[in-house]
Amino acid sequence: MVANLDELPDPLWELYFQRYPVLRRATTKEFFIGRGCPYACTFCVNGTLRRLYGGGAVRLRSPARIVSELLRIKQSAGLAAVYFNDDTFTADRAWLQEFLGRYRLEVGLPFTCAGRASLLTGEVVEALARAGCRWVEMGVECGDERRRRELLGKDESDEALAAAARRIKAAGMFLKTSNMIGLPGETPADALTTLRFNQELGADAATCSLFQPFPGLPLTERALALGLYVPSPERPFGAFSFQTSLLELPEAQRFLNLRRLFSFGLGFPRLLPLLPLLLKLPVARFYEGVAILFFLWTYRRYHQADLALVLAKAWQARGLR
Ligand code: SF4
Repeated sequence: MVANLDELPDPLWELYFQRYPVLRRATTKEFFIGRGCPYACTFCVNGTLRRLYGGGAVRLRSPARIVSELLRIKQSAGLAAVYFNDDTFTADRAWLQEFLGRYRLEVGLPFTCAGRASLLTGEVVEALARAGCRWVEMGVECGDERRRRELLGKDESDEALAAAARRIKAAGMFLKTSNMIGLPGETPADALTTLRFNQELGADAATCSLFQPFPGLPLTERALALGLYVPSPERPFGAFSFQTSLLELPEAQRFLNLRRLFSFGLGFPRLLPLLPLLLKLPVARFYEGVAILFFLWTYRRYHQADLALVLAKAWQARGLR
């Protein structure tokens, strides 16, 4: 493992631009500030990396290196907004303050990042907004606090998530949440609690995935112990965590339909009482179309993406989902 990421060269963006011209044209481009996350949620690869490598799993590039990469791409390919695709952008407060100060002065573009609720203090949220952050993505994962804490190992209360959501919105930024359904022991009715909680938080957009039992995850061990998962080469992992579930879930089709209708339900909260009925209907292809439309609509807003990139995403979504 390379401890000092500054020893690595910058990504050779030009190769990707040659192969995928749409990336060059994209007004918002994706960057990484580092690797890893200091937490150990039971469903996430970062916990496994922490068990393997300890604290060294979290490594951040220096603010100077990131700013120089951003400026290079801004000048050579054009850049109107930045998407930081790291799992936890706000993990190191001292690093963050230094980086945001430089970013605001030297790059000065709107950006999107992800933060954990417990790290989104008033001071951090204000600094993000001052530096030009437009969207903050926050992991909610599960609307049931007990399940979130005990099953997912995400030690964050409903109130902590709600307080962070209020701070984000009060600072004039948009809130996007990430959520996961199809958990061991969860029913579709339980999973609807997650959608309801997102509405209470006032989330502006949300992603909803189905839990994937990747090897080595504590949550996979739990699913195996409960007999909900039997690994088989005939049932490989999908290309996307949105696609399907490998668990033997009761009422699996309803989970799949809820995943498809999650953004729709968030956008039309008055329809929530109808959702238990809608989840039963055998119209998966129609719901998939709804999911793709909402995905693209969200993608366009969230990434402030131009039409070319949205259409490229539509083509990708058609193949993967
Ligand atoms: S906080 Fe997020 S990135 Fe970190 S371990 Fe948990 S789910 Fe993974």
